Amino acid sequence: MSSMATVDAASPGHSGDGPAGRLTAQVTDLEALSRFSVDGIAERADLVAAEAEAADLTVVRLRAQLVGADMRRRRGDHAEAGRIVQDIRRWATEHQQSHLRARSAFVLAAIFQELGDLATALEHAVEAVDLLDEAAPPELRIDHSLRLADCLGQQGDEASSQRYAEALTLTQELGDADRELLVLNNWAYVASLQGRYEEALPIAERLEARAAEQGESLGVGRLDTLARVLIGLHRLDDAEAVLLPGLDPAELEASADGDAGADFLLTVAEVGRRLGRLVEAQRILDDCVNRCDRHGLTAIRVRARQEQAELHAARGDHEAAFTEYKVFHEQLMQLQSAQRDARARAMQAMYETGEARRQSRRYREMSLRDPLTGLYNRRHIDEQMSRLLGPGSLPAGPVSIALVDLDHFKRINDTFGHDVGDAVLRRMAELLQAAVPADGARAVGGSFVARMGGEEFLLVLVDTEPAEAAAAAEELRSAIERHRWDDLSGSLPVTASIGVATAADGDPSPAELLGRADALLYRAKAQGRNRVVTESP
Ligand code: GH3
Ligand code: MG
Ligand code: MG
Repeated sequence: MSSMATVDAASPGHSGDGPAGRLTAQVTDLEALSRFSVDGIAERADLVAAEAEAADLTVVRLRAQLVGADMRRRRGDHAEAGRIVQDIRRWATEHQQSHLRARSAFVLAAIFQELGDLATALEHAVEAVDLLDEAAPPELRIDHSLRLADCLGQQGDEASSQRYAEALTLTQELGDADRELLVLNNWAYVASLQGRYEEALPIAERLEARAAEQGESLGVGRLDTLARVLIGLHRLDDAEAVLLPGLDPAELEASADGDAGADFLLTVAEVGRRLGRLVEAQRILDDCVNRCDRHGLTAIRVRARQEQAELHAARGDHEAAFTEYKVFHEQLMQLQSAQRDARARAMQAMYETGEARRQSRRYREMSLRDPLTGLYNRRHIDEQMSRLLGPGSLPAGPVSIALVDLDHFKRINDTFGHDVGDAVLRRMAELLQAAVPADGARAVGGSFVARMGGEEFLLVLVDTEPAEAAAAAEELRSAIERHRWDDLSGSLPVTASIGVATAADGDPSPAELLGRADALLYRAKAQGRNRVVTESP
């Protein structure tokens, strides 16, 4: 954290009492708050982002935009949220902003979790924990640990328990009651999802006790977690008792989009049916269906059909049960296919920008390459030579060039055909590439080899004295001469003539330097070919 505060604070005009300190504090608060559904966070994040933009505080702006994107994710707009977060993540990676990277990974983990790509979600959750700075607020440490626990748990990995235990300890050290309840709820929920009801029970009981101690109602979502654990342990009466306070209309209305309420009613109906209270169960289920229709809760509506079929069957009406079950099955298939489509759209949106950028980088790279040999082309030569030479170039020591032209290449074409000529050019490219000083696959210090055109190549050697360049050229000439070409050109020898020139003082233009090398190459040809001619005496 401190590192990114300094990045922005250090930029001119934002010292001490400027907006940097205030905006950083605000965005830090928002990050911690964003873990909960608090009204107005998105608007506050927008404001901070706008102020940070005006003050030229890029990192603060992006942190605020991440909070905004996380709120979009909560509203179900995974495509747009994902697009924003991926962009921020790329920037953060390029600029080595580990806090931003950790926060991007944190939000991405939730997005992928909700899109059902659990493996990718887990990768991001691990990164979110790894990259979080030691100095980050403890609230964020808890949030990131909890998300990792959730991702592990959803994958069915029992290592989640250890992670939940750690997160729980952190909440207690911090005395953060809201986060403590959050950790307990998720732990109990995940353990019961995995069918580990015995492990879930003490945690669920602790959830209930801690909420009571704080005089807080659990809310329908957490009551549902408790009941699920008890149902798993076949304690239906206890489950029914636990669910009771949630039937209070005020509790049911507390979840803004009605989602949690409908889910909760479905659990109540199931418990009622299994306890044989069929009339009451039907009344609750009707309530649930109403709520689904009112709020457009398609997924829960479909599950309610399954419960309806069970209810018909419990009443002995097997025909109605069968009919309802058929509708359930059909709608489930439709729902799953709609979910798949939505998921695919979100994934595509998320990768689009990155893909477009990769493509345009690829096209740019392609436009600088010669298709026959894969070497750089004339365009790259021009770009690089004007970067290395002439006005405004960086002093990088002398730049030497070696202009290489094959001797009597026309004879090879005429004797063996154009295809063999092409093959000779391709092999030449390999020999040339070996002549560029390289560290692994990368050329050192901007040196490179390129194809000028036809059977003419150029070696550009950065920070290379004339004598070194002459030696490199001579080595190349000799390598070409020594190479076994007979599989391509039979008894016809393949050799090259080379002109070597160096730009040291007098700031010669690229054209001037190339002209000098060309004149020297001409002399090499005139002197009998297969030789290197340099400027020095
Ligand atoms: P010199 O020793 O004087 O350089 O003689 P040369 O025959 O090498 O030179 P010249 O410029 O007379 O001929 C170059 C030949 O290279 C002519 C052209 O057909 C051939 N050439 C140019 N580009 C290609 C190519 O891409 N593939 C093939 N196979 N041949 C090419
Ligand atoms: Mg030639
Ligand atoms: Mg030529």
